[in-house]
Amino acid sequence: MHWRQVPYSEIEALDRHTTVLILPIGAIEAHGPHLPTGTDGVISEGMAEAAVRQLRPHGLTGLVLPTLDFTVAQFARNFVGTLSFSAATVLALLADLGQILTGQGWQKLAVANSHLDPAHLACLRQAFANYPLQVAFPDLTRGRLARQLTPEFQSGACHAGQFEGSMVLARQPQWTRPAVAAALPDNPHSLVDAIREGKSHFGEAGGPHAYFGSPRQASACEGEVSLETLGRLLVESVLQLA
Ligand SMILES: [Zn+2]
Repeated sequence: MHWRQVPYSEIEALDRHTTVLILPIGAIEAHGPHLPTGTDGVISEGMAEAAVRQLRPHGLTGLVLPTLDFTVAQFARNFVGTLSFSAATVLALLADLGQILTGQGWQKLAVANSHLDPAHLACLRQAFANYPLQVAFPDLTRGRLARQLTPEFQSGACHAGQFEGSMVLARQPQWTRPAVAAALPDNPHSLVDAIREGKSHFGEAGGPHAYFGSPRQASACEGEVSLETLGRLLVESVLQLA
């Protein structure tokens, strides 16, 4: 169930104890010359929908909030097409959202985030540290979670490559450019290493075309598996809430 696809009366009728709001968070940023700028939002929505399905057997209803695509995207700031907002703007928006949701009696929020820009993650950690709702926020950069994702993701060469490209192929194939992807050489530079070394944008990190990993290896099949895994990680995080 998606918040913006149903009348208010159906939202109002939901049980506040057994409904989990799911907030997909993406970004609008360069994802190579072969994937859409809205790649992360597409992935996070797929993660949210997989979580809705996987919550049902636990007696929980997932209600997917409108996707937050306007956020901090510092690493991709030098590419036209990227819309990078300040952390202060995002913090203010998330604080408002918390007030609005608690005002309506909602209690549980699950954060489906697939945008891993370090400044964005810092912003989310700050925003949800003292949130008025209970928050399930699986941080995919943590080792325990990262180890459940694909080898490319774990290698750190994980922006607009096989991992992300596969999930966009599974959800929005018409938004991809397969002929362009097929001609792109692999870029094994690790963003994790680059961040550790203090690099602050894709160019510095060895990604002059805003992609890392292996775009040509992407497949819808792999994408479906990854989305189910992301949904499971989100559900596991929800089930840990009191
Ligand atoms: Zn991405």
